[in-house]
Amino acid sequence: MAILGSTGSIGTQTLDVISRHPDRFQVVGLAARRNAALLQEQARRFDVRRLALYEPTAGVPSGMEAVVDVATAPDVDLVVVCVAGVIGLLPTVRAIEAGKAVALASKEVLVAAGEIVMPLAKQHGVEIVPIDSEHCAVFQCLRGYRPDQVRKLILTASGGPFRGRKTADLADVTVEQALNHPTWRMGGKITVDSATLMNKGLETIEAKWLFGLSIDQVEVQIHPQSVVHSLVVMRDGSALGQLGWPDMRLPIFVALSHPERVESGLPPWSPLDTPNLTFEGVDEQTFRCLPLARESARIGGTMPCAMNAANEEAANAFLAGKARFLQIPETVETVMVRHHSVAATLESLIEADREARELARESLLSGSRA
Ligand code: MG
Repeated sequence: MAILGSTGSIGTQTLDVISRHPDRFQVVGLAARRNAALLQEQARRFDVRRLALYEPTAGVPSGMEAVVDVATAPDVDLVVVCVAGVIGLLPTVRAIEAGKAVALASKEVLVAAGEIVMPLAKQHGVEIVPIDSEHCAVFQCLRGYRPDQVRKLILTASGGPFRGRKTADLADVTVEQALNHPTWRMGGKITVDSATLMNKGLETIEAKWLFGLSIDQVEVQIHPQSVVHSLVVMRDGSALGQLGWPDMRLPIFVALSHPERVESGLPPWSPLDTPNLTFEGVDEQTFRCLPLARESARIGGTMPCAMNAANEEAANAFLAGKARFLQIPETVETVMVRHHSVAATLESLIEADREARELARESLLSGSRA
């Protein structure tokens, strides 16, 4: 397999899983954004010769073409896409065109471009296996069922570090507070997305595309223990769920070994370990990113791509200490109001992404709602 984003949170956990099963998995390509030292250490440890960095770097093939070369090399069967953000789109498209299986952790790829990625995968007979824990849960529950047999999905959300707070309580929250996630240890961008609940908005759109449902068939409920990873409610009223510890190594292992079910070496969860599981609705007045994301999917075309680009800019500005927390939903809303959605093609999506980032940076600079 090739791993795009090998130095990030999912990338390093994927390599951790692989190191426990050397007889089952072999890595032949690694790509990362800029961490040359860790990439080269990984290459030595896993004896990988094909490397790429997205940012220009001496001594390592670099740039988008180099990343695409890693994803499409002849000895690659499976491409694990776990880069942060929509930057994973082009390598994913090229991997699908080359007939590679795809294990997808970068939800932004389907959020921005599900309308072109899913038909492309179908056309090339490529199965996209999700690594996101909620989608891995739904994927497991839906084996053997058709989309028309599903009434709805219930994606579960921990609620993040600000669960129970109101808008006024969020005005002055710090990066450190936003990164203090109650149940999951993840990369910076996704942890901020979890604090705004944009992560659940992106996952709602990701689920729509992966499982062939309408956006209004995907609900979200808060489940602070992060043990029920999602539920599928069938037409007949039966609810199916997948339960386990909040540990990304299990969905990674499930995705890498699909369609086999074999010993993972990870401790199994028992109901006696977490006997009290609770659920509550989402406060969409306070956590506006979720309804904004859903609205972008209802509009369709290039709108989800623009929404995602605005969120990436705002979340990264917040992480860099250059924006307030509440500027994240404000920026997303401003960009959605200004963006004129057109039909999604690879070209129109790249343009929508570029334009939305420009609008988002302007809006962030002005510091208030435009
Ligand atoms: Mg998730």
